[in-house]
Amino acid sequence: MIYKGIGAATGFAVANCRIIRPAPEPMAAEQPIAPEQVEMELHRFHDAVAQAVKQLESILQRARQRGDTIRTEIMEAQLLMLTDPTIEDEVREKISTRYFSAARAVQETIAEQAEILAGLEDPYLRERSADVRDIGMRLLAVLQGTPLLDLSALTDEVILVGHEITTSQMAALDTVNVKGIVAEVGGKTSHTAILAQNIGIPAVMACEGLLGSIRDGDRLALDGDKGIVETAINESRFREIKYELIRRAELRDALERLADVPTRTKDGFRVRLLANIIDPAGADKALQVGADGIGLYRTEFLFVNRKTAPTEEEQYEAYAAVVRTMRSRPVVIRTLDVGGDKELSYLNLPKESNPFLGCRAIRVCLRDPVLFMTQLRAILRAGVHGQALILYPMIASLDEVRTANRLLAEAKEALRAEGVAYDPNMKSGIMVEVPSAAVTADLLIRETDFFSIGSNDLTQYTLAVDRLNEKISSLYNPFQPGVLRLIRTAIDAAHRAGNGKFTGMCGEMAADPTGALLLLGLGLSEFSVNPSELLKVKKIITSVSRAYAQEAANQAMQLGTADEVHAFLKAAIPAELQVYL
Ligand code: PEP
Ligand code: MG
Repeated sequence: MIYKGIGAATGFAVANCRIIRPAPEPMAAEQPIAPEQVEMELHRFHDAVAQAVKQLESILQRARQRGDTIRTEIMEAQLLMLTDPTIEDEVREKISTRYFSAARAVQETIAEQAEILAGLEDPYLRERSADVRDIGMRLLAVLQGTPLLDLSALTDEVILVGHEITTSQMAALDTVNVKGIVAEVGGKTSHTAILAQNIGIPAVMACEGLLGSIRDGDRLALDGDKGIVETAINESRFREIKYELIRRAELRDALERLADVPTRTKDGFRVRLLANIIDPAGADKALQVGADGIGLYRTEFLFVNRKTAPTEEEQYEAYAAVVRTMRSRPVVIRTLDVGGDKELSYLNLPKESNPFLGCRAIRVCLRDPVLFMTQLRAILRAGVHGQALILYPMIASLDEVRTANRLLAEAKEALRAEGVAYDPNMKSGIMVEVPSAAVTADLLIRETDFFSIGSNDLTQYTLAVDRLNEKISSLYNPFQPGVLRLIRTAIDAAHRAGNGKFTGMCGEMAADPTGALLLLGLGLSEFSVNPSELLKVKKIITSVSRAYAQEAANQAMQLGTADEVHAFLKAAIPAELQVYL
């Protein structure tokens, strides 16, 4: 049987499943406790909280040691909730005046709190509903003496399957033995998915109905790229899957040998191959695959999942950690890109009917100079430890570049006056992801140091296709000639400007083998991709000559439709590289 869900983290896995069952159902019929048991139940509740705190602290400590900021933040938020007086007061009240057992009081309080949160307007608080349920499961497990399935040290390789896999379960995961994650709910941008991508475990979300047809220990296969889960795997299918896994592992091994090889085309053109990261732990992954630097540090993940913006010091620590890890390699730090699909409750962004066309990215920062300057100061200071560059997202006009640069100059001046160390020569560039920026690239490049093409948004804005809307996803295609011409315009403008100005791409198109061939041919010299994709792109670039790529690009640019362009480029990928398509 094939179950279709949403591919939420790339990769392929086959293993027996381990089903995570939700907490036992409420004990509504349970007898009230006797009044003399109240003290004891209150005690049991407090003990349970203390034990749960200990468990969370140990998960938190491990996350901190790994420099894993995302998991750290999630666990910090849960710790705060666990000790939140509202929960404590509610539970105490139910035990003392309604004579509930500690377990039942916890169960009902958690259900009430989760429901209140789930019904709120504020997206940050709504998301917290899952965290509250997660805490409830932990407390109940302690109270009932049924230890939560310890996912941190498994003895066999498993695919975890649950109706919902919670963030704290993800945060405590044994990343060696868990080969895949499947949940019946959730989406590509859920925390579980983001963590799975970050750890590098394939995941399928929104796989409805799967739990009804499998039992613990059944063999499953999952494809995190296609969003498919396969059950009832017979021996011959199992052999086929194993063969596919071996084939993929061989390809991966062959690619790993490329990590230390410089990225040069066959005719000697040097390309910089950089990594996209979301936190300091990503920098280690980037180094492992031999990245020439970080081409996109999406800093927004430092800002989500919390009640207030990170301080300058907190930001400085995170940015400096990445810059130090990368030693003298470039680290392009993008300023806050929120709005659109990423909301932050504490910024009080207006409710908009077209959020992607509304208050997003640089627009948010220019409206809130304190927020922006704090981040600029942190980046400027981090630059002292190596080579940092600043990148402004969603630039649509020269006015925005000028305002951002003026604020940058003010931030430098303030640091200088305060005697704080910073990099006075730090370069700043802009994302080219709005069509107007591409069309006026010749004007913009005069007043900025570099371009980084955001093909994800450039495709969305050029074609007027919402990148998150599944109903029109077939229209979303970066190979549309309209998008390609804008990309070419931006690359050419930087070349013409000379003076060390350059163009890179940090959108997903750069990680697509056919996209890489085309972009190389169009003259792109910097590619920034997820660390897991980097060696594949290196393989493509080092296997062709620049002249060959230029010829392919020339021909592709004459074609009229995205399908024609894509088919042509696929055929142009040399035979021995077809396995990477
Ligand atoms: C892009 O738009 O291509 C990009 C890299 O930015 P994001 O995906 O974070 O919007
Ligand atoms: Mg973008």
